[in-house]
Parts: sequence; C-alpha cells; structure tokens
Amino acid sequence: MKTKIILEEEEIPKEWYNIQADLHTPLDPVISSATMKPATPDDLKAIFPMELIKQEMSRERWIPIPEEVRDIYRLWRPTPLYRAHRLEEYLKTPAKIYYKWEGVSPPGSHKPNTAVPQAYYNKKEGIERISTETGAGQWGSALAFGTRLFDLDCTVYMVRASYEQKPYRKSIMQAWGAECLSSPTERTNSGRAVLKKDPKTTGSLGISISEAVEDAATHDNTNYALGSVLNHVCMHQTVVGLEAEKQFELVDDYPDVIFGCVGGGSNFSGACFPFAGDKLRGEKPDVRIISCEPMACPTLTKGLYAYDFGDQAGLTPMMKMFTLGHDFVPAPIHAGGLRYHGDAPTLCNLTHDGVMDAVAYHQNEVFDAAITFSKTEGIVVAPEAAHAIKATIDEALRCKKEGKEETIFFNNSGHGNFDLSAYDAYFDGKLVDYEYPAELVKQSLAGLPKI
Ligand SMILES: *Cc1c(COP(=O)(O)O)cnc(C)c1O
Repeated sequence: MKTKIILEEEEIPKEWYNIQADLHTPLDPVISSATMKPATPDDLKAIFPMELIKQEMSRERWIPIPEEVRDIYRLWRPTPLYRAHRLEEYLKTPAKIYYKWEGVSPPGSHKPNTAVPQAYYNKKEGIERISTETGAGQWGSALAFGTRLFDLDCTVYMVRASYEQKPYRKSIMQAWGAECLSSPTERTNSGRAVLKKDPKTTGSLGISISEAVEDAATHDNTNYALGSVLNHVCMHQTVVGLEAEKQFELVDDYPDVIFGCVGGGSNFSGACFPFAGDKLRGEKPDVRIISCEPMACPTLTKGLYAYDFGDQAGLTPMMKMFTLGHDFVPAPIHAGGLRYHGDAPTLCNLTHDGVMDAVAYHQNEVFDAAITFSKTEGIVVAPEAAHAIKATIDEALRCKKEGKEETIFFNNSGHGNFDLSAYDAYFDGKLVDYEYPAELVKQSLAGLPKI
C-alpha cells in the first residue's frame, strides 16, 4: 500500500481551472467604491497587470499556464498526495485519509503557486516593485520568493501581531531580498490614521491591505498583489486539486469528503474547485466539501452574505462575499493566516448555493489535532492547516463509530516550522479559546457599505 502518490514533472498541469465557467449562480459584479458601479478593467489597472485583470473576469474554463511559470513550479511541484496510514491506524478508523502536502515549496506553503505567476505577469508588463500585506508571514515570504525569481523589488506590510510573534518570517523575506515592515506603519495615510486612533493596535490583515494598496496606487512603477480571496488567486491554486485528481486516479479512489482551512479561501479553493466542478456538472453529486475556520473569525459560519470592502479603510472595490464587516479586528489567534474578515467570492458563492459547507473550531482543539498529526504522520503543520486536520480526525472517528469506509481528503497547506512559539503557548497551556464575538461582529456588520 502506497504512502506517497507521486506524479512526474511533466504532469504539472498545463492549464488552471476557472470555476467561474461552471458556477450555477454567476458571480455578482465587483463594485467600484469610487463610482458605485460595476468595476471596469480601467478601475483596477492602477494596481494590477492587465493579464491578471483579464483572468479575474474570465469565464473561460481553462487558462494556459505560461511555460516560464511551469518551469519554476518544477522546483517543488507536483507535490505528493499522502495516504495517512499511521493516522488511520492510530484512530482505528475504517476511513481512508489522504492529504495533499503543499509544505514542500521553498516558502513552506501553497502560496507560491500564485506568487510566481503574479510576479511573472507584473514583470512582463514592465512593473519594477510589488507591494503586499501579510498576516502570518506566509504570503509575504511567498511573494518575496516569487518576485526574486523574476528580479522585482518587494515591499511587505506585515500585521503587527505576527511581526512580533514570528520574527523568522521577516528574516526569510529578507533572505529573498524583500523589505518587511510592521503594519500599521507611518508610511501611508491609512497606517497613520489607525496608529493615531489606537497606537497599541495588534493590526489586522484589513489594515495591512489598505497600506499595501495605497503604496501601489501612489507609485507608478509599483503594483499590488493579493495572496488570497481574488478569483485569479484561487484559480492559480487549482494546480493543487488538478494534481490531486490525477493522483486519486492512480490509486483508483475519489474523495467522499474534502476539508481545507479557510482564511481568504485560496488553498481550499485550489484543492477543492476541480472536485467542486465535477459536482457542479453533476458528475460526482455526492462529494461533500467543507471549509474549516476559527471560532475567533467565523466568516462563513457566522458572517453575512453581502457586499463589503476587502480592506479596513474601504479603499478596495466591494465584493459580494460572506463577511464579518471590514473593520472587524479578530482576536490575535495563532492561526494568523485565518484572521480575515471576508472570504473568496467564488467560495462564498458555492457556500451560499449549498455546494459547500463550513465548520468552525477553537484553537486548543485545533492544536490537539496538530499534535496527533505530528505524532503519527511526522509533520509539524501550520496552525492554519491544523483546522482541516481537526475536521479530518472528527470525520474519521465518526466513520469508526458508524462503521463507514469513507475516503477523506484534506489539503495540508503548509508546515509550522516558523510557528513554534504558537506550539510553545499551547504546551504551556496559554492558548485562549476566544468566544465568537457576536457583539463585535454585530457592530462591524452595521458598518457595511450600502449597495
Ligand atoms: C495563508 C495560509 C492559509 C490561509 O489562506 P487561504 O487563502 O485561506 O489559503 C492557510 N494555510 C497556510 C499554511 C497559509 O500560509
């Protein structure tokens, strides 16, 4: 029985899968905050290259992956699909557990799957620098890596809570030649405004996005890049699910249920959209697809499906998505990458249409699951990824109770080698399980833009 199901380099996908081609309900248009009308490519071209704007709006099912991008993908792709034999034995479950392992990329997560093509298209269109935000530090390091390979400069606004919890993420960004700043900064209007109101702020992804967008919009040679949420980002990530589909074919299996952690939704979209496409086209109607999020930031399970800004200051266009309100600042949980107030519009659309579902967990139970995983499968995972492991373990135990031989698939989005201070807090019993902040969310939702 195989443990690693491996593809050849030639089998790296040649096209990304665009789920917009198969959605039952078309996406609601993005609304420009300047005109209050559907955003046009012109509204976006101050901060994005034209090719990515086209991809964002495309309804073509397949988008070719440039050879230059596939060549860089070869550094770590195809990634292995693992059968978690030891976890299955430990749980004594009849279920079969598989996971796609995205931690083998140089930055240690799925994020370079989109950082590399984004850097490529910007370079091709004459851009010299890219600005961005980062929560846990994973996206900043992925973009630092991607821009370096195409000889671009990179400025990263890092959420203050993570900057302080994860100094080594900053070091690795510097090793790839990027500049990494603790956000909010004094460099931008939006940063200065937040610091004036609350000098002790822990920061949030929304605030950092405001700073990075402002930086790009005010410099001609600079564009902005987002590591999650947007359609083109989720689409670039579909290399994960497309490879997984081939790998399941090799072992003549297919998932009954798919789990992934959701911050902005990119790793899970990437892993599940090719399978969701099968479901939408009626080819595999029974596959269950479930997002896993933190109780402290329960966007899909407790948010509202409405138009909202992508950032705290309201500089970005408005998107229809599940949201907790753009000025909601979640508690500083250790899965920093899951502290975003919204989620990818495509993933929200599928959740709203009932094609996908969502669950939320507290951080202590998530770390319990991470430890079970490290003790059985050997990998110390990112706290974000551990949310999907918690769901997997619960499902495997349910299968045991009900005597069901299900096939469970989850996306293992990255390693936790830079998250050891979070593990220390867990070992010391210092992790706080924040209650769902109903009052705070209510306040933030009251500030939603009126469309
Ligand atoms: C950034 C990150 C996430 C959350 O972002 P998504 O866009 O929801 O994927 C999850 N896991 C890891 C390891 C990350 O780095």
